[in-house]
Amino acid sequence: MTVKKIIAFIGQISIAEQCLWLEQLHTQLPNEVIKPINELSTPQLQQCEVAIVANPEPQQLSLLPNLIWVQSLWAGVDALVTHFKQAKFKLVRLIDPRLAETMAEAVLTWVLYFHRDLHLYATQQKNKQWFQHPYRLPSECSVGILGLGELGRKSVSRLLSNGFKVSGWSRSKKSIPEVKCYSGEQGLYKLAQQCQIIICLLPLTDNTRHLINDRFMKQLKQGSIIINFARGGIINNADLLANLDSNHLAHAVLDVFEKEPLSMNSHLWQQPNITVLPHISAPTHCLSACEIVAKNIKSYRQTGEIPKFVDFARGY
Ligand code: NAP
Repeated sequence: MTVKKIIAFIGQISIAEQCLWLEQLHTQLPNEVIKPINELSTPQLQQCEVAIVANPEPQQLSLLPNLIWVQSLWAGVDALVTHFKQAKFKLVRLIDPRLAETMAEAVLTWVLYFHRDLHLYATQQKNKQWFQHPYRLPSECSVGILGLGELGRKSVSRLLSNGFKVSGWSRSKKSIPEVKCYSGEQGLYKLAQQCQIIICLLPLTDNTRHLINDRFMKQLKQGSIIINFARGGIINNADLLANLDSNHLAHAVLDVFEKEPLSMNSHLWQQPNITVLPHISAPTHCLSACEIVAKNIKSYRQTGEIPKFVDFARGY
């Protein structure tokens, strides 16, 4: 009988969260032995071929010299990609349709918030101002989605089914019914010129770092809104503050930051036209994520095939 090798669990999460994850993983994978990396002996570290990670310290993966693949419990894996550049192991990120629905819900929530002028009414209430803004149809509001991957495509459908006009931008050009699809630098600027609300759902890579900069912002119509639900490094914050101060942009919603939690000294907290959120637009759902991880691991045990993995050279 062949003995299954131990799966290492590595996460920069609290002990309580780790217990929840391990309990759910054991329920979904009763035939596997999954243990926190700090409980593994030297021979077990040597033997380990699969790891499950939740935002790990990248160095901890180097303790596993015979690692074949790593399953992330998070959808974004930019920290691991940046650290390893070219790893010997394959990196599988979480692709969870439920997470994509959660992101689409966040996208629709904020688009409706701005479309129905709730940011303006919030300020008016503070100033005791009774003033009605004209109603516009959703079809008069153009929303641009940067990134047409797992999260971007679900968000596009949710916006379309609520009547919004949608454009999208991706590395490879897409064809999506009812959506103006763009790619390349010129495509990015064309999209910017047409949209009142921009939503960023791109991965952070060498090519997307500070992509939302002054040049991009200047292409947007006056009074546009930027929503970043992807990674903080994609926006140049100095350019954002300058464009908000000059009233070229009306508002920004930032759910993600280069350093999290956002520093107490950051200027971003105090800006009246910036909404700061603590990385909550699409949290991983423990049960749903563990079901997907279990499916991936069971399939690997049966077929030896590693699930769809990240392209380190491309960066996502
Ligand atoms: P994905 O499926 O890999 O999709 C990425 C999309 O971005 C693809 O359409 C890709 O183009 C496009 N893209 C990548 N590089 C590009 C470039 N240089 N120029 C133009 N387009 C580019 O990723 P996903 O699952 O949708 O997730 C997107 C990001 O959301 C994650 O990387 C993560 O950082 C973030 N996220 C945030 C939260 C949160 O709670 N705030 C939660 C989950 C994820 P192609 O289609 O041509 O490949």
